Amino acid sequence: MNNTKSLKDNKAVQTAKDIIQSYNGKPLRIMEVCGTHTHEIFRLGIRKLLPENVRLISGPGCPVCVTPVGYIDEAVKLALEKNCLICTFGDLIRVPGTKKSLAGARSEGAKLKTVYSPLDAVDIARDNPDTQVVFLAVGFETTTPAACLAVEKAKKEGLKNFSILGANKTMPNAYQALKGSADAFLYPGHVNAITGTELCEQLCGQGISGVVAGFTAAEILTALAVIIKLSQEGKPFFKNCYPRVVTSEGSKPAQELVKRVMIPCDSEWRGLGIIPMSGLALRDEYAQFDALKKYGIDEIKGKPNPACRCGDVLQGKCRPCDCKVFGKVCTPMHPVGACMVSGEGACSAYYQYGMD
Ligand code: SF4
Repeated sequence: MNNTKSLKDNKAVQTAKDIIQSYNGKPLRIMEVCGTHTHEIFRLGIRKLLPENVRLISGPGCPVCVTPVGYIDEAVKLALEKNCLICTFGDLIRVPGTKKSLAGARSEGAKLKTVYSPLDAVDIARDNPDTQVVFLAVGFETTTPAACLAVEKAKKEGLKNFSILGANKTMPNAYQALKGSADAFLYPGHVNAITGTELCEQLCGQGISGVVAGFTAAEILTALAVIIKLSQEGKPFFKNCYPRVVTSEGSKPAQELVKRVMIPCDSEWRGLGIIPMSGLALRDEYAQFDALKKYGIDEIKGKPNPACRCGDVLQGKCRPCDCKVFGKVCTPMHPVGACMVSGEGACSAYYQYGMD
């Protein structure tokens, strides 16, 4: 199906398309930070509308993709050596670890359960008091509040058999780390719905440009058109193009919940290394729910497959199709790296929709 058909046609869409397609200024690199944007842009056929001098590059906004190999190794260890039931969102199960994925561990007897919310894992722990349940808490500002809610709930209920393996990340310092990778960011609207826009305004003050975008065709096209327009003014800019959802202050209840349960910490990102204060760890008063502490496991430094260029893909340094094993050895059925596994991953989008 030609998805560009779904872009026809209201006036706002047509105006945005006109602005985008008539652009003939200096080359622009726009980083879509969010995996949902990456896939929607492909699905809607938006890449095909862009002039040659506007390039979209995919950033590190897919939580499964940025979770480092060592994290998978830790989860495998918890499953196989500590006999824990691993509760996780589905995508993580097939992400390769240093030696094996969780799916590989399952064939060796590991117990895994796909859940749709961290609270499901709390329910499983309550209903199975003889089973040690570990929830794999990965994700950004959008998913962290639910993990915090689960931990608070487990504490309130006095559950002794529930813990989380944490890899929660926050975007602000990642934007800093990626400064220079793109001329402007397409900020993920759902993250900004939680954080608000103050941070983006601060980044603008530091010379980092970007626009908050929603997820419909009209919203994405409008955001791209605004980037193209504002970039011609020759100075850093910020604009909230998703005001029906994103406010300046964000979601105070979600922010307060996270602050109660977690504190900022350094965090390792696949391909980007350790970004200072870009992660969240459980506060001391919740230490009994930290799976690494609970089971006495040291952090594992994993080894990614040397053929995999996920790290470069996540920084916009190369396109998935520039990876030698893309589509040959590495496919969604046999992924070599996380970006091919995840439904939000750039490699999976390129494979599914074709290269631009
Ligand atoms: Fe990694 Fe596969 Fe993407 Fe290459 S195509 S960067 S191996 S996920």
